Amino acid sequence: MHTDMAVAQGATAFSAPLVRKSLQARVAWGKRVVTVGGGAPVRIQSMTNTDTVDAVGTAIQVKELANAGSEMVRITVNTPEAAQAVPYIREQLDRMGIDVPLIGDFHYNGHRLLTDFPDCAQALSKYRINPGNVGKGDKHDRQFSQMVEIAMRWDKPIRIGVNWGSLDQELLARLMDENSQRAQPWDSKQVMYEALLNSAIGSAQLAQSLGMEPSQIILSCKMSAVQDLVAVYRELAKRSNYPLHLGLTEAGMGTRGTVASTAALSVLLQEGIGDTIRVSLTPAPGEARTQEVLVASEILQALGLRSFVPSVTACPGCGRTTSTTFQELTQQIDNFLREQMPVWRTTYPGVESLKVAVMGCIVNGPGESKHADIGISLPGTGEAPAAPVFIDGEKRMTLRGNAIATEFQAVVEDYIHKRFGHGQSQTSNTV
Ligand code: SF4
Repeated sequence: MHTDMAVAQGATAFSAPLVRKSLQARVAWGKRVVTVGGGAPVRIQSMTNTDTVDAVGTAIQVKELANAGSEMVRITVNTPEAAQAVPYIREQLDRMGIDVPLIGDFHYNGHRLLTDFPDCAQALSKYRINPGNVGKGDKHDRQFSQMVEIAMRWDKPIRIGVNWGSLDQELLARLMDENSQRAQPWDSKQVMYEALLNSAIGSAQLAQSLGMEPSQIILSCKMSAVQDLVAVYRELAKRSNYPLHLGLTEAGMGTRGTVASTAALSVLLQEGIGDTIRVSLTPAPGEARTQEVLVASEILQALGLRSFVPSVTACPGCGRTTSTTFQELTQQIDNFLREQMPVWRTTYPGVESLKVAVMGCIVNGPGESKHADIGISLPGTGEAPAAPVFIDGEKRMTLRGNAIATEFQAVVEDYIHKRFGHGQSQTSNTV
């Protein structure tokens, strides 16, 4: 009886990612329009860590981030000198043909900088406003409103970016007071969640009351713990239809930061929550800032939400394949595919959906290779020194000898050329 029940439930258990209906924001520079929400692909954004006053250095990093796949790039605008540099950064990018929209990140003095430096306000494509950092007391609403009015004047969308590290303390204190009056007070975490949501949605309502189009308001409520972030965004998605910027703040470094961001973002993206993402990794000394863009694109590709580069499926290896040959081949093919993408993106449209398999032995090698567009099953320890190659699910050739890596790369390139350059694959038997 239990078995029948399990089968019956299993029959309806397959599910695709959910879709949340949100408004669509338009973040534009020149002819480039990046749509956010409203059915648009989940967008990748990133943030520079250069001093914005260094206009050339910042423009170079923005270019690197854009070339890595960032569709919007945020820069710090914290001082008059930084605000003055913004139009020059934009100019440098335009000269290099990089039309990625720039987002200004403002705290404390954004109202003054946007007022005093109209060229900065115009050169930016979106303003990030942190309602926890726009001023205290009666200054809060006045300075927030000033920024919203400038955004409307220049026709720029805004992100109301709440962060639990800079949560509006007056709002939190008021909610704590209200909570203490309850017959059964909530726990303090619940009150903090409520304060984050109140700050984001209340600020959005204030912006709307000033005349801002709701579709031009993007919300975020960033937290640094995975479960907190999931809980808050689920509620944010339920209570509003604004486009949502999603990210785990202060995710940390390396593997920890990557895994924590992936865990948090994957849960929410699978539920249709998140219209643009940023992975907030702390780079190791000397590590490229572009790593955060790479991780963001890998998350979206792994979830099947977007494709950016051909994927290489590889087994982990085990005692059946003790040589490093298959690790080297996997790395070589992966590097080769990534390196070619800047050119292939235009010469071979659609190539990003290609699936390549590199497998270590006969156990799963042929099966996995057949599922890929093109796959190779290397000989494991003790197996005959031959590597069958599968193309479109069929065994097409066997590679032998010391040049397997070079020959397989040529086979992959030939396949791509025939399938994505001139229509459907005419699979080759020549190698
Ligand atoms: S395919 Fe072969 S080498 Fe790779 S993990 Fe499986 S058994 Fe091990």
